[in-house]
Parts: sequence; structure tokens; C-alpha cells
Amino acid sequence: MFEFKLLHTDGPARRGEVHTPHGVIQTPAFMPVGTRGAVKSVTQRDLEDLDAEIILGNTYHLYLKPGDALIARAGGLHKFIGWPRPILTDSGGYQVFSLAAMRRITDAGAQFRSHLDGSLHLLTPERATDIQARLGSDIAMVLDECVASTADAAGARDAMERSVRWAARSRQRLLELRAGPVADVTVTNPGQAQFGIIQGGVHPGLRTESAQATIDIGFEAYAIGGLSVGEPADVMYDVVGHTAPLLPADRPRYLMGTGMPDDLIECVARGIDMFDCVLPTRNARNGQLLTSRGPLVIKNARYAEDPLPPDPDCGCYTCRHFSRAYLRHLYIAGEMTAATLNSVHNLYFYLDTMRRIREAIVFGTFEQLRQEFHQTFSRRPQQ
Ligand SMILES: [Zn+2]
Repeated sequence: MFEFKLLHTDGPARRGEVHTPHGVIQTPAFMPVGTRGAVKSVTQRDLEDLDAEIILGNTYHLYLKPGDALIARAGGLHKFIGWPRPILTDSGGYQVFSLAAMRRITDAGAQFRSHLDGSLHLLTPERATDIQARLGSDIAMVLDECVASTADAAGARDAMERSVRWAARSRQRLLELRAGPVADVTVTNPGQAQFGIIQGGVHPGLRTESAQATIDIGFEAYAIGGLSVGEPADVMYDVVGHTAPLLPADRPRYLMGTGMPDDLIECVARGIDMFDCVLPTRNARNGQLLTSRGPLVIKNARYAEDPLPPDPDCGCYTCRHFSRAYLRHLYIAGEMTAATLNSVHNLYFYLDTMRRIREAIVFGTFEQLRQEFHQTFSRRPQQ
């Protein structure tokens, strides 16, 4: 059921299609993050109107609440949340490392206490695979060990080697689930694919070893993990530029948890096909609109009577109907609609940027788009 078709290339930039049991994803693709079965402050109808072709669900959150068994009884995550298009779930590992208390990592897995009620849990590679099988996402991720970008080479090596051992166990478990019924595990999406994750911090040698060992295990596709965790952008670009060409050209390449709009362009330029990030929705809730010229902080007094849309070059619902003055008023007044309208714009901007990237690759003008983008876009808030 899972298939990747590489349609065009323009230098290292790639235009393709990922086929899944719930439909096709045009790549390069951006995946809005629906942490707990909802992309924060927008509805599934908004996402369909925005032409989001895939969303991401967080296994850690869904496992704790409402629970993967409940979601399996409801027929899987697609049915439970009323989203007919593709879904990718992460393994839960990243949230264990960033949210959970008292975590203890051993070769067995990650033992932790829930950030919700303090209850004790053990997330193993097998359990992370089982949970995602019950959720029934189209793309499941292996459990990996994440380390801080400041980890030294020895710490990064330990985590990378453990991630490889965990990847092998995750794959073994998925193959068992595919081979036949396993007690207590309802597989709600038999066509689910599983991606391996390349670790190794900012150390090129470790990234090479991780890529080799993970490819040897054999997955439907591969992701680059452990980046966008605080390292400077140029360091991240170097690691992506080193790692992406090590991955099979006939499989999609997913860069996890990235990033700012200019990161997307720069990483497509290095051969990445799939992205996810909470940034467009999180920043929207904090009143930051991401536009073709850069971030716009809507609460600023200078927008109090500004009749312009957030981004005059944007065709989204928010920009077609509302002024900066109105959006500033909603934000200052604490109206929930502020988060919705800002999120609709930010998601549109991300998804539209990916559309323009895909077009440029087909027409062989990606380099031109990249230059133009950098000429207009600045990370500093607009003055
Ligand atoms: Zn807009």
C-alpha cells in the first residue's frame, strides 16, 4: 500500500508522491501537528480547506489520554477524529524526553512518569509499535533516544547505538503484527508503513554509522531525528546536507520537527521531502504571524488602525477577509477566534510555500525561488 514515486528533481531538491492507505501526499510536504488528535485551534474542515494532505499525531499524548485501546475500539485514529486523509504518528520518544518526569532510560526502554498524573509507564520499542498499530496511522515511527544538541560525542554515540537496537526491535515487532494476530493488539490499519530514524547528534561520523545500520534493518522510509533542538541553523543544515544523500533515493526523507519557513527551503535544497513542526500553530496562538516578509507581531500598537491584511501577498481566508487592526483587537481582547484566524494564516503560509517549492522543482526554477525567498524573508519581526 505504501509507495513513493519520485517525479522530478532539480539539483538535490525532489518532487514526489507518497501513496498511503488514506491517500496521496504531494512532496515536498509540510505536516501540521495535531498533538492530541486536533491541530490546535482549527477544525478538520479548516485543514481540508487549507489542503493539508497529512497531519501528525503524538503517540505519547494519545497513549496517556484517551488511550490507544479506546481509539482502537473506536476504529482507529482516522475514524475517532474524523480525518479521512493520511496521518503520521511519532513514537512518543521525543515527548518522553521533553515532557515526562523521572525518566530512566535502559536498553529495555524508557521508564517515565506521566506529566498529567504522575503514573508510572514503560515505553519499549515493542510497545511504541503496538500503540501506533492500535492508532492505525498511515506512517508509524520507531522509538528512538533523543539527546540534547549539546551532548558530547560519547553521549551521542550511546544514544545513536541504542536507537539502532531499538529500531531493530520496533521493526521485528511490526513484522510480527503483519504476520498474524498478536494478543491484545488490534491493528486498525494493516497498510501502515514504518520509518526508521537516523540519530547521531551533530557528529557526521555518527550520522553515517546510524544511516548505514538503520538502512540495513530495512524500513519503508527514513527520517532524520535529533535536530532543531537548539543547535544553530547552519549546523542543522550541515547535518542534513551530510545525512540526506546517505538515504535511499527511492524512499521519502523526513526531517523531524523543523522549522522556520527558511529552514524548509534550505532543507528541500538538501534533499528533504517531508517536514512537521508546531511552529506555525504555536506562534499563531502567541500572536506571531509568519509572512512572506517575516514574522509579524500582531499585538504591536502600530497595527491598531492598520487596514492591511497580515500579508498582502497571501490568499488565505484570514488575509482575504480581515485587517491587522481587527486581528490585533481579537488578540488583545483574548478572543479564541484570534488563535483560529492566526493559525489559518500561518498554516496556509507554510502549505503555500510547499506548493510553490513543488512547482519550482517541476519547472526547474527551485534555485531562483530559493534566492527570491531569502531576499524577501527575514527572521527579524517586521518593523
Ligand atoms: Zn494569510
